[in-house]
Amino acid sequence: MPQIRKLVIVGGGTAGWMAASALSRVMGTRNYQITLIESDEIGTVGVGEATIPTIQEFNTLLGIDENDFMKAVNGTFKLGIRFQNWSAPGSDYFHPFGVYGVDMGGLNFNHFWMRYHKAGGSGDFGLFNPQTLAARKGRFGRMAEINPNAPNVNYAFHFDASLYAKFLRGYCEKNGVVRQESKITSVAQHPETGDITSVTLANGQAVSGDLFIDCSGFRGLLIEQTLKSGYEDWSQWLPCNRAVAVPCDKVGPATPYTTSTAQEAGWQWRIPLQHRTGNGYVFCDAYMDEAKASELILQRLDGKAQAEPRVIRFVTGHRKQMWNKNVIAMGLSSGFLEPLESTSIYLVQHAVLKLLKYFPKDEITPSIRIAFNQDMLRAYDNVKDFLIAHYKVTKREDTPFWAYCKHMDIPDSLKMRLEMFQYHNDARVTSLELFTEPSWFAILVGQGLVPRSYHPAADEMPQEEFRWRMQKIRDGSTGLADMMPSHESYLAKTCPSP
Ligand code: FAD
Repeated sequence: MPQIRKLVIVGGGTAGWMAASALSRVMGTRNYQITLIESDEIGTVGVGEATIPTIQEFNTLLGIDENDFMKAVNGTFKLGIRFQNWSAPGSDYFHPFGVYGVDMGGLNFNHFWMRYHKAGGSGDFGLFNPQTLAARKGRFGRMAEINPNAPNVNYAFHFDASLYAKFLRGYCEKNGVVRQESKITSVAQHPETGDITSVTLANGQAVSGDLFIDCSGFRGLLIEQTLKSGYEDWSQWLPCNRAVAVPCDKVGPATPYTTSTAQEAGWQWRIPLQHRTGNGYVFCDAYMDEAKASELILQRLDGKAQAEPRVIRFVTGHRKQMWNKNVIAMGLSSGFLEPLESTSIYLVQHAVLKLLKYFPKDEITPSIRIAFNQDMLRAYDNVKDFLIAHYKVTKREDTPFWAYCKHMDIPDSLKMRLEMFQYHNDARVTSLELFTEPSWFAILVGQGLVPRSYHPAADEMPQEEFRWRMQKIRDGSTGLADMMPSHESYLAKTCPSP
């Protein structure tokens, strides 16, 4: 029998239920007692509706049927993010999931596109990416169903975060996870080690545990309020610290992409679901007050508001230690990076998988904690650089917020990436990063930073062959996009919400 058997998850938002579902699936509840505590009075953040393709791996791990999941969460499919007004007012580019073209002779396609572009070819690199073309036409379909011989098209989902938590709760309860609904009023620690020994609920019941997973949201009930793990503040590079969220009625077909529109003091998201549209204005309170942001987002909705705007306050950054003593923080309790590239749920997934990888049997050794913390910090750090690049590589100076972003100092790691990109057409430093060459290419070239040069081997392909291949890739991308039905008709056929 393992020594570490009683697992207590504090919090029933997306993070808590994702942790509980993966633990109950992988570790099981025969030898492990998994308890999740959540407070209806406190509630959850309840936003967080856009994802990236890695979530498919999470669903696969849980053995969840994708259509069942999509129906339960009123989901829509997502091929990428459309960025409007980021480079300059009126600018528009798309960051797709998946690659541009095909690699040739071991070289990334980006280098060939540069040769093509420098010789006068179209600046619209989306022509070489099927996701971009399908998104522009409002199309979507899983290629395995449409034409199994065609290459896979990467996708993710938009969903109702509260329905996702409810869906996972049903999954967990079937797996034997015990849910306790109550507010935790106090936390007990071992007098010598400082480990958490139990949490006490409002009714006086103590819930003891060997390992605690803190998914209590921004407050970080165990990781910060009890263990004082410290917070690394990244606001100087990512100054937005407020979001005002409001759902509205659905108007027109659901787009198979998220829209991010740069605004005077930040940016606005638009996330289509089957039954409504999620909207939010992410902004910095030094440049706009909450009342003004609420007023502006209401004016900019394309459907009737379904609720009063709700303000959420945050500080961008992360806990200095995400695994401290016998507490592991996940989700908002571990840190927060604004939802510009829909990475928070991915970071929860990453933490859950790392915990499963390092899961301690009898004792928590310092090496496990160090490995977990280093891995999580690396993941946060890579996403951070990618997000900052969106702000830094802008031509905008039309408001004080954008003037700050354009001229702000940036981390050395990002300076190096931008230099690498300009000279070598590659901003990725290691092969372990979430955002790969095509993503950096999409956002940097999309915002007008075209590399000065490209790999010399790209010039070695004879001109005739080069022209023929580029045309073939372009036609292939268009053909793939045209095979797909409209997103709405595909949803109606495969996974309509009840
Ligand atoms: P919460 O949802 O806050 O849940 C905290 C839980 O802890 C609740 O159940 C609460 O009841 C419980 N709790 C707290 N204190 C106690 C106590 N004392 N006793 C008992 N229970 C307690 N992510 C994405 O991937 N894509 C997005 O598009 C996206 N957009 C976002 C937009 C905004 C504005 C914000 C703020 C976040 C967004 N996220 C997004 C992040 C995503 O919403 C969160 O990462 C995710 O929902 C996880 O939240 P959580 O479970 O950590 O916290």
